[in-house]
Amino acid sequence: MSATGLGALREAVRGSVTLPGDDGWDAARQPFNLAADQRPAAVVHAADGDDVAAAVAAARAAGLRVAPQGTGHGAGALGPLDDALLLRTTRLDSVSIDVERHTARVGAGAIWRPVAEQASPHGLAALHGSSPTVGIAGYTLGGGLGWLSRLHGLASESVRAIELVTADGRALRADADSEPELFWALRGGGGGFGVVTALEFDLHPLPHAYGGGLFWPGADAEAVLSAYAAWAPELPDTVSTTVRLLRVPPLPTVPEALRGRTLVDVGLVVADTEAAGRELVAPLLAGLPSPLIDRLAPLPPAALAQVHGDPEEPLPGCGHHTLLEALPAEAIAALLEVAGPQSGSPLVSVELRALGGALARRTPGAGALGTLDAAFALYAVGVPFTPSGDDLRAVVEERLEAVVTALRPWAAPTGFLNFADRPGGDSAALFAADTHARLLAVKRAVDPEGLIVAGNPLTLPA
Ligand SMILES: Cc1cc2nc3c(=O)[nH]c(=O)nc-3n(C[C@H](O)[C@H](O)[C@H](O)COP(=O)(O)OP(=O)(O)OC[C@H]3O[C@@H](n4cnc5c(N)ncnc54)[C@H](O)[C@@H]3O)c2cc1C
Repeated sequence: MSATGLGALREAVRGSVTLPGDDGWDAARQPFNLAADQRPAAVVHAADGDDVAAAVAAARAAGLRVAPQGTGHGAGALGPLDDALLLRTTRLDSVSIDVERHTARVGAGAIWRPVAEQASPHGLAALHGSSPTVGIAGYTLGGGLGWLSRLHGLASESVRAIELVTADGRALRADADSEPELFWALRGGGGGFGVVTALEFDLHPLPHAYGGGLFWPGADAEAVLSAYAAWAPELPDTVSTTVRLLRVPPLPTVPEALRGRTLVDVGLVVADTEAAGRELVAPLLAGLPSPLIDRLAPLPPAALAQVHGDPEEPLPGCGHHTLLEALPAEAIAALLEVAGPQSGSPLVSVELRALGGALARRTPGAGALGTLDAAFALYAVGVPFTPSGDDLRAVVEERLEAVVTALRPWAAPTGFLNFADRPGGDSAALFAADTHARLLAVKRAVDPEGLIVAGNPLTLPA
C-alpha cells in the first residue's frame, strides 16, 4: 500500500487502523480460527456504520479490496489477503430486542450470546447455531443452521432487513420492499455483496424446550449411528438433532469425565415440554446401552446455545463438509472406516445433523438459500497442531478429504456455505445452478470490480 493511500486511510477512519509492524498488529489480524494466518495490507476496526463507508471509500482509493470480518469464525475460507483491507466490525456490537414485536436489531459485529440472553427471559429464542460466540452477520449471510431450524427454517429466513455499505460506498437498506433482489441474495448467498452494518430479524416464542447431550463410549459408535439414522429423520419438526464422533482433546478446559476420550454423542433440542421430549427420545434409547452421560433437561431459550459445548475461545481448526441425501448402513460403515474409533483418525469431531422439516419447505419470498435440500449435513473438523505446536495440517486435511470422499456415493449435489470453510472453495459447488447464476447477477450489479472479498467467492467471469 502506498504511503499516500495509507495516510488517506488514517485520515478517513475514526476507528483504529493497524498496519504490518505496528504494535498490536498480531492481535488486530487474529481471527477466532487460529489456523488462518491472515496477512492483510491493513486492518481497520470500524467505529460505526459511517466509518465502514469511510473505510470502503479509502480502501477503494488506495487500490485495496475489502474483506469484512466480525469474529473470524469463518476465516478458514478466505484466501490470501495481501491486497485487501481487513475491515473488522467487532465494535458494531449493539443489540436491541423488541419484546412486543418479537424482533431484534443488531450491529454487524454482534455475536449470538447477548441476543439469546436478552430474549430468553421473555420466552423468546433466536435462530442461532451451536455456538453463542459465532457472529450473527456471517452466520446469517450464509443461511444459519441451528437448534430450531427444523421448526422455523434457516436463520436467513427470519431476517426482516439488512443494512450495508456497497462497494461504491452507498449505504443501503435491503428488505422485502427496498432492494428486493439484493435482499434475496443476502439471505444465504454469503458476504460478497457489501459490508453489512446492521441486521433486523424475528425472534420466536419458545415456551418450553427440553434437550442436551447423551454420550456413549466410542465402542458403541456403530450402534448409536445406526439407531440415530433410523430415529432422527422420523421426528416431528419440533426436534433438531446431531450425532458426533468425538475425540475429546485432553485439555483442562474439558470436563474430566470426557477428557481425552473417544465418544459418540447425540445432541438434541425438543421445542416442547419435558414429558413430550422424554417420549420422543425413548425410541432412540430403547435399543441402545445406557449412555455414559445423560445431560437431557428442560432448557430456558438461552441454554440452547450451550447444548453443543462448542469452544468459545479462539483455537485452530480445519474443517470440511458435505450434504448427504441418505444415511444407509453402507454409509455408516464407510464413515466408521475413516473416522470411527478404530480408524486412527486425528479429527476431533465428525458431526451429522438431520435436516428436513422446515429446512425442506421453500416459502414464498424465500432468500437465496431458502432450504437445505438434503437429509443430513456432515461437518468434520480437526486441530492442525499438536499441543506442543507440531504441524498436523497435512494429516488433518488428508483425513478430512477421506471422510468426504468415503461418503461421496450419498452426497447431495449442493453444499452449505456456513460449513464450507476451506480456502479455495468454489461457490458453484454449493448452490443449485439457477440460484448460483442469480447470485452472480446480483454480484455483478452491486460489485462489478469484485472489491468485496468473501470465502467461496462468487467469481465474476473475466
Ligand atoms: C465453533 C463454530 C460453530 C459453528 N456452528 C454453526 C452452526 O451451528 N450453524 C451454522 O450455520 N454455522 C455454524 N458455524 C459456521 C459459521 O456460521 C460461519 O463460520 C460463519 O461464517 C461465521 O460468521 P462470523 O461472522 O462469526 O465469522 P467471520 O469469519 O467474521 O465472517 C465469516 C464471513 O461472513 C462474511 N461477513 C461477516 N461479517 C460481515 C459483514 N459485516 N458484512 C459482510 N460480510 C460479512 C464475510 O464473508 C466473512 O468472511 C460454526 C462455526 C464455528 C467455528
